[in-house]
Parts: sequence; structure tokens; C-alpha cells
Amino acid sequence: MSVTEKKSSVLPSPAPVLSAPVPPQPPAPSASTRMAPALVAGHRILVECPAWCVVDHVDLHEQRVEDVTHWGEFFGTQVSTLLDENTAYCELFGRVNADPSHPDPRMRAAHVLVGNGSLEDAFLTPDMADETADELIEFAVQLKAAARVARAANQGLLTA
Ligand SMILES: [Zn+2]
Repeated sequence: MSVTEKKSSVLPSPAPVLSAPVPPQPPAPSASTRMAPALVAGHRILVECPAWCVVDHVDLHEQRVEDVTHWGEFFGTQVSTLLDENTAYCELFGRVNADPSHPDPRMRAAHVLVGNGSLEDAFLTPDMADETADELIEFAVQLKAAARVARAANQGLLTA
């Protein structure tokens, strides 16, 4: 669990312990994480947040600490159709993702979320994301080739 033991900042600070040479400190985040404020069930706490996370954990008020997840910038594409220019025929988007409270360690680790607007998203290990990216690059190459054929056909440049 990445949530620190630090309580809400609105609570009074504990009385100092005079015999302790160093006052208690929250755990130091690693170089790839930072301690970020979060609002959970109305309490302001600190959570360990990956450097790639763009979530405002205060603005995204969760009711349970288990619901705090981290994600990076969205990227994606939409496919339009010439029959309806105002509606995307389909879409594909992705982001870096981590769910620190998930029972599956692969979901707790940084992974890649890929969604298409349906209720269920796909979660990919970095290797799975690389494999999918290679397939999408091949799809893009074939898409460009299809566009060249269609353009040439429309210009009367193709011969039987
Ligand atoms: Zn975060």
C-alpha cells in the first residue's frame, strides 16, 4: 500500500516527544515518486504518487483509499467515417496506469491501460504494450497502403 500513515492535515499535531532526537517524519518517497495530497472520504491525506501521475488526488475525491489510482496523460485516436462526420466510428486511447490496492501485483505495478470507449478496459504489461504497438504500426503501414490504392484508383491511375 502506498498510502502513508500520516493523518489528515486538519488534525492537531501530536505533542512533541522530548526524548526523541529526530521528530517522526513520513516515509521519504523514492526518486520516482512524490508524496501528493489526496482527499479520501473527506480527509486530506498524503499518498505516494508516481512521477508520471497527472491525477489531482484532491480534486478526484475518493471515498475509499483503495480507490486511489494513478494515471498518466491520455493519448489516443478516433476513426471517423465519411458517412457521419460528427461521430467517431471508434476510438482507441491509452495511458500509463497503476492501482496500488489491487490484489494482482501486475495491476499494482505500472502498466498500460488501453480502452476503446466500452465498459471494460484492457490492461497491458509493458511487454504486451510493445507487442500491441508493433501490431498497430503494421496496421498503420497497411492503412497507408490502402489509402494509396484508393487514391490512385480514384485518379484513374490503376490499370487492370
Ligand atoms: Zn497519483
